[in-house]
Amino acid sequence: MGYAQLRELRTALTTASDIASSLRATPTRRDADQLVDALRRALTAAGSLGEATGPTGCALHPHGAVDPLHGDPEAPLPPGYGKCLLCNDRRRRADAPVRLHHRRRRPGGRRSA
Ligand SMILES: [Zn+2]
Repeated sequence: MGYAQLRELRTALTTASDIASSLRATPTRRDADQLVDALRRALTAAGSLGEATGPTGCALHPHGAVDPLHGDPEAPLPPGYGKCLLCNDRRRRADAPVRLHHRRRRPGGRRSA
């Protein structure tokens, strides 16, 4: 899916380069506008290169399940959580307090005499 963005980026850069190469000593306002337009398209394409295109927006699971809590105003996800349910489950497990060893104080524990 990133291929279209890459092609757009290359096309825009080539266009910008062509415009820049053909500029005369005194570029017109129109030349500048065309150049800015091409560079802007290149910038937009470059900025969207890393984006995953699946519904989850996740690079690892682009077509996985979307977390039902994503976008829920009453139960917002913690910062750093995305739309991907698989990744969020992993984060939840990592964030959950580890309770493998319950430490209990024995009543009337050791006292130094
Ligand atoms: Zn994921």
